[in-house]
Amino acid sequence: MSSRLTRSLVAASAALVVCLAAPAAAVRAQKQAPAQKVDAEYTARIKEYTQDARVITELVDHLPASDSVPTPLKFLGRIPGTPDELTYYKDILRYMEALEKASPRVKLRRIGKSDEGRDMVMVFIADEATIKGLDSYKKILNDLADPRQLTEAQVRQLIASGKPIYWATGNLHSGETGSAEMLMELAYRLAVEESPFVRNIRSNVIVALTPVLEVDGREKVVDNLYYRKKTGQTMPLIWWGKYVAHDNNRDGIGVGLKLTQHVLKAFLEWKPTVLHDLHESIPYLYSSTGAGPYNPNLDPLVVDEWWLLAKHEVAEMTRRGVPGVWTGGFYDGWTPN
Ligand SMILES: [Zn+2]
Repeated sequence: MSSRLTRSLVAASAALVVCLAAPAAAVRAQKQAPAQKVDAEYTARIKEYTQDARVITELVDHLPASDSVPTPLKFLGRIPGTPDELTYYKDILRYMEALEKASPRVKLRRIGKSDEGRDMVMVFIADEATIKGLDSYKKILNDLADPRQLTEAQVRQLIASGKPIYWATGNLHSGETGSAEMLMELAYRLAVEESPFVRNIRSNVIVALTPVLEVDGREKVVDNLYYRKKTGQTMPLIWWGKYVAHDNNRDGIGVGLKLTQHVLKAFLEWKPTVLHDLHESIPYLYSSTGAGPYNPNLDPLVVDEWWLLAKHEVAEMTRRGVPGVWTGGFYDGWTPN
C-alpha cells in the first residue's frame, strides 16, 4: 500500500462529499464555531508519512482533536497510511463501533454476513438530529425513487425535506488496501470536525461508509502482509473471498456472492443518491466516468451526474495544486460493474 495514495484518498473523498452539500452561501451563513484544537501528535505523523506535499490539502493536513471520540491513532496505535502496516477488518469494525459509542453523530447498521460469516456494515454519519431521524430520511428517498403515486407538489415537498445519502464503499478488491484505512480517518473527521466545511456536510448530507466490502479477502491480504514481514515470503492467494478473487465486481449480473447480494439489498433499501466505490488500480487520482459509449439502459441523467461529480472533484483538487487528478478515460462506462 502506498501511504501517499492513502493520504490522497482522504483529501479526494472530502472534496467530493461537499459537492452534495449546500452551496457556499449557506456555508457563509452558518455560525462560525470557535477554533477547534488540533491533535498535534496525529498531525505530525500525517506530515511525516506524506511523501509528496503536493498531494495533501488544507482539508486533511491536520486532524482536529476530540476529548470524547477516539482517533485512529488512539485506538490502533498508529494512523492510517503508516508505511508497511495494514489494519485487519475485525479491528476496523471495532473502531467504527467505538465511534458509534462515542458520538451521537454516528450510527452503524449491519447489512448481512459474508460468505465466511463476517458482518458487513454501513456506518452512517450526519448531525445528531439527522441520525435520530435516519429511517424517516430513508422513507423520503424511497418515496422519491418511485414518484408515480405523488403529485408534483408532494415531490417538491419531499425534495425540500429530504437529504441525499452519499455511500462510499472501500476495498472491494482486497489488494487495493488504502480505502479501508482512509475511511476510518474520514469517519472520525466527519464525526468531530467543527469547520464550516464539515458542518455543512453533516447538516445537509447523510454519509454512509462501508470501509471494507470484501471483508473475507481483507483478512487474507493483511495476513499476507504480516507473513511477508515475518518470513520474507508471500503466500500466492488463489482466492481472496471464499469463492472469488478480483472478479467480485463482475458479480453484478449473476449476484452469486453474499457480498453482492447484501450491497444490492442495502442499495434498494436506502436508495442512496450516490454510491461511490473506491479503487486503486488506476494511476494518479482518477475519478470514474468512463469515456463512453454509455449504456442506453441507464438514464442519461445518471451519466451526466457521474461527470458532474468527477469534474467537481478534478476542479477542487486541481485548484488546490494536487497533481494528476483526472477523469474521462480508462474504460467505456458501459458495463454494470
Ligand atoms: Zn479495484
